Amino acid sequence: MNGSTIAINHPFTEHDPYGSLSMPVYHTAAYEFASASEMAAAFTGKSSAPSYSRVTNPTVTYFENKVKAITGATNVFAFNSGMAAISNILFALGGNGKTIITSPHLFGNTFALITGTLARFGIKNKLVDFTDIDSVREATADKGNCCIFLEIITNPQQEVADLRAIAEIAHERHIPLVADTTMIPFTEFSAKDLGVDVEVVSSTKIITGGATSLGGLVIDYGRYRQVEPRIRSELLYNLGAYMTPHAAYMQSLGLETLSARYGVQADHALQLARKLKTLPSIKKVTYLGLEDNPNYQLARSLFGKTSGALITFDLDDEDACFRAIDRLKVVRRATNIYDNKSLAIHPYSTIFGNFSPEQKASMDVLPTTIRLSVGLEDVDDVFEDVKQAVED
Ligand SMILES: *Cc1c(COP(=O)(O)O)cnc(C)c1O
Repeated sequence: MNGSTIAINHPFTEHDPYGSLSMPVYHTAAYEFASASEMAAAFTGKSSAPSYSRVTNPTVTYFENKVKAITGATNVFAFNSGMAAISNILFALGGNGKTIITSPHLFGNTFALITGTLARFGIKNKLVDFTDIDSVREATADKGNCCIFLEIITNPQQEVADLRAIAEIAHERHIPLVADTTMIPFTEFSAKDLGVDVEVVSSTKIITGGATSLGGLVIDYGRYRQVEPRIRSELLYNLGAYMTPHAAYMQSLGLETLSARYGVQADHALQLARKLKTLPSIKKVTYLGLEDNPNYQLARSLFGKTSGALITFDLDDEDACFRAIDRLKVVRRATNIYDNKSLAIHPYSTIFGNFSPEQKASMDVLPTTIRLSVGLEDVDDVFEDVKQAVED
């Protein structure tokens, strides 16, 4: 069945006494039991009855089950934020002295988590260039690697790694491949079919439908058993980062319109990228859906027809970027991506503002780049706005 149909019609697990067509929101921390033995069964995992909302909640389970049905995953876990999902999967797979194979081209907080926080607790990391398959093969030859962690489309560089080739190396070496797939929704392509073992998603982005709440997902394809026991029986309890019922309700609603919204946003992004290329003050437009993008063919082979809704473009210098951002009237000056609203930001001075110029150079984050996340507005309105902002 199509992902949209599942997202809209997936049945709630329990019979609702009022036949509510919308998902009831269970705003409760604890649950009452009819007997001591039922209580014991719930607390020891012998029954699926919820025991405490730090670990399970019917509204969150409903959201998780929808994602499970769409992706064909073995387990789906919903967390309080994308970063909570990422930290949970890395705690599930990592350990003192183990090494995470990753790249400097990562979401800023993921990079800081791996190279700062986790390193402080003895989880090591090795940074590789995922576009160089031989170097990935070489870096993973040693023992003691706990996972390969990559982003399917890096931001803001829009680098695409050959997921199939990396998955093949991961499987040869018996190392789980964890992919952050936030940039292309799971309704549009199957990470599982490309060989990804665990997907992580910041559901704060396109899933919510208008950035109503924070959320994150760990989508586990069941190839490494420790993912499920560690998250379900250890980390949900001990780290306390499970999604709240209110967020799960809003994100379930968002999921219903995800495919429709994403389709429009990605289509507008392609139209805008083509038009922005015609403006003389813009030196370079980077979008995976443009035929002259060096990753165009690879992105096609991985994600099919879709290329995301994020564009970057380069102006003469940092001053020109600041001037253009200040002049925007329709596009909003904000971080976040894949909101209903189009959003512009200068990554060099904001998201990466606390990194040194050398670090930024190593991440290919340039002072001349503006990032534009394309929303649902009329595409001509967005184009005219950017045009008046960048023209002298
Ligand atoms: C936003 C984002 C995250 C972090 O998600 P939060 O929900 O903000 O914690 C992780 N990875 C990618 C690719 C993101 O865009």
